[in-house]
Formats: sequence, C-alpha cells, structure tokens
Amino acid sequence: MKELILVKYAPEIFLKGLNKGKFERKLRDNIGKKLEGIKAEFIHDSGRYFIRTDEVEESINRIKKVFGVLEVCLVREVEIDFAAIKDEALQKMKEAKGSTFKVVTNRANKKFELNSMEVSREVGAYVLTNLDREINVDVKTPEILLNIEIRNNYAYVWSNNDITKGAAGMPYGTNGSTMLMLSGGIDSPVAGYLMAKRGVELNCVYYHSHPYTSERAKDKVKELAKILSEYTEKITLYIVPFTDIQMEIIDKCREDELTIIMRRFMMRIACNLSEKYGINSVSTGESIGQVASQTMDGLIVSDDCADRPAFRPLIAMDKTDIMEIARKIGTYETSILPYEDCCTIFVPKHPKTNPKLNEIRKEEEKLNINELVEKAIDNIEIVNF
Ligand code: ATP
Ligand code: MG
Repeated sequence: MKELILVKYAPEIFLKGLNKGKFERKLRDNIGKKLEGIKAEFIHDSGRYFIRTDEVEESINRIKKVFGVLEVCLVREVEIDFAAIKDEALQKMKEAKGSTFKVVTNRANKKFELNSMEVSREVGAYVLTNLDREINVDVKTPEILLNIEIRNNYAYVWSNNDITKGAAGMPYGTNGSTMLMLSGGIDSPVAGYLMAKRGVELNCVYYHSHPYTSERAKDKVKELAKILSEYTEKITLYIVPFTDIQMEIIDKCREDELTIIMRRFMMRIACNLSEKYGINSVSTGESIGQVASQTMDGLIVSDDCADRPAFRPLIAMDKTDIMEIARKIGTYETSILPYEDCCTIFVPKHPKTNPKLNEIRKEEEKLNINELVEKAIDNIEIVNF
C-alpha cells in the first residue's frame, strides 16, 4: 500500500496569474524548510504537491502549520486501472466510519476511459454492492466523502477522515515585512499571527521598562516570539529600553497625556528600527475602543508619528474573537501569565480619550525627542528565534 501526502493550497494562490509560479515555489520552499530533518520527496503536479515520506504523521503535523496550505490529505496511490481504483475505494470505505457516503471524482487525466461523473457513479455502485455493512448514498451531507483523483501517472483515493486542515493564508515571505509591536498581552501575538498568515514577514519590537517591568515580563515576550516563530521562519526580536523615555515624559508632560505620548514614542521607534533594518511597515494589536488609548482620536494621534503604513489587523475584532485565535495558535496560556507590562505601570488616573493632535505636538516640544529615540535605539538588545 502506497501512502502519500497531498498538499492542497489556498485558492488565492491560483489567482496570482503570472506570479502563480513564484507563490507556488515559495510555498514549496517553506514546506521544505518545515520538513527539515525528514526525508521527503516532492512531486509537483499542476496545482498541488505530493510528498512521499516514511514519517507521515510528523510531516503532516508540520505541514499543516505552513501558511498557504489549505488541506493536508493522506492519500493512497493506485495504478491507472479502474478495477484497482474500485478496490481501493472499497477498502477505504471499509476503514471509514459512517452509514452514508458520496463519491467525488476529479479527472485531470482526460485520456482515462470514463469521465468523472461515470467514475463516481460506478465506484458508488461497486461500494453499495460489495461493502460488508449497510450503507446509503447521501449527496447533500454524507458522513463519508470519498475522493478519487485520476491524474496522468496515478490515481489517488482518500476520504474526509484523511484530511487535516491547514493554516491557510498566503506563503510566508510573499507580502513584504512588518515590525510588530509585541507586548506580553493577548492581542499583539494574534495581530502578528494574522499578518504572517497573509505572507508578511514578521519582526518584533518590545519596549522594556526595567526595573519597573521584570525579567520575567521580558521572558514572556521572548516566549511569545518563539511561539510565533513556529509559524514563520526566523524571527528577530528587538528589545528597546524604554524607562528613560517614560521618566522624561512623566517629568515634563501633563499627566493625562502620558499614555498617548508614550504610544507616539513606540510608533517612532518602531518606524526608526524599520528604516534601519529595511522593514516595510509596522503592526500593533490595537482594536478600536478597547482601552482609552485605542479611540479613533488616539489612533490618529499615534499614526501621526508613523512614516510608513501602521497595520492593526485586530482593529474591528471583539476581544472574545481575539482570545479564540490566541487559544488556537497557542499563545493564550503564555499571554495570561500575570506579569506587569510597561503600560500598566505608567497609566494616568484619567487618560485622555480624545487627544487633539496639535495639543499633543505642543506638549511634546518640552522633550528632546530625537535624542531620546536615538539613545533608546543605541541600546537595543537583539534576540533571534
Ligand atoms: P496587548 O494585549 O497586545 O498587550 P493591550 O490590549 O494590552 O494589547 P495596549 O497595552 O494599549 O493594549 O497596547 C496596544 C498595542 O501596543 C499592543 O497590542 C502592542 O502592539 C503595543 N504595545 C503595548 N505595549 C507594548 C510594549 N511594551 N512593547 C511593544 N509593544 C507594545
Ligand atoms: Mg498590553
């Protein structure tokens, strides 16, 4: 019995016209990297990849996390011979649980003697006559969906039980790069995941307020970057010392404007680092209305300090939906560890919810902005995952 892994990729990749080959190759490279250490042979067959390996289970577990992969199916390879195909289909049905079924055929090999409708009908009839248990056809909601694909060299048979859902999205590294502001909270890792899922290369920046935030808070952010890197490739985390900036703001600026001014510094530094390391954009885990600084006015005022697109993939999402993704991607348990972050320590009692750009700009004139930003950047710590 020959089993192969069939990788189906996201339909969006097919829409890329002349660039389709580029996306397919990138996906192939990304899967290859994920399978490092496993002996695997790739077979590219118009619009999908087949992978032959002895380590099937481990390979499927890794491939399903690759962005751009829609489904990973464990399929049986059969000679192009209708009797052999019918037998394999029957064998699959014996193994599958359920009392209703439907056969779906895809015939890429136009030389095959029957068309796809005929194959489905005849295999269905063969199963009905020969299966050793009671079974009915149900074309609308079958418990078992038996797939038959007839290609040029071989045919393949699998059922819905053999399908593992993939991460979907676009191949990582096909859509530019972003600097994710990664805090220890629930939201920003999810924002990073969603950007990476669309093929955007991730880099992370964390603002650390030593000694007001502990080493453990920093370790938590490192752990989150590490979890994210399981979905991406190498991730670089830039750790920026932020205490001096905060102290200076507390010392010179109005109390109710602390948060918003601090956020402007975060934006400036993220953009500055992006410029320095050739990164296209910045991203945050902000969601409209979630906290005082995430009002429309607040976002406008922090965007004022961005010299490149600032993406906020969670902007229109509810907290419960964000939490659901965090659980699914495995960041939730780390995010809820109770270590303080810099924002919770320096929160004003009554933060401004409707800051006015001109007023904030004026307030900031009390600070030596460039010097503060440069000093912070000169003292960054860089960690790779
Ligand atoms: P999160 O759950 O991601 O911490 P939050 O709901 O706590 O978000 P804020 O603290 O207002 O919201 O932060 C909004 C966004 O600003 C975060 O999602 C993150 O992108 C960025 N951010 C906040 N604090 C930091 C930090 N210390 N280092 C890096 N980025 C930060
Ligand atoms: Mg936070």
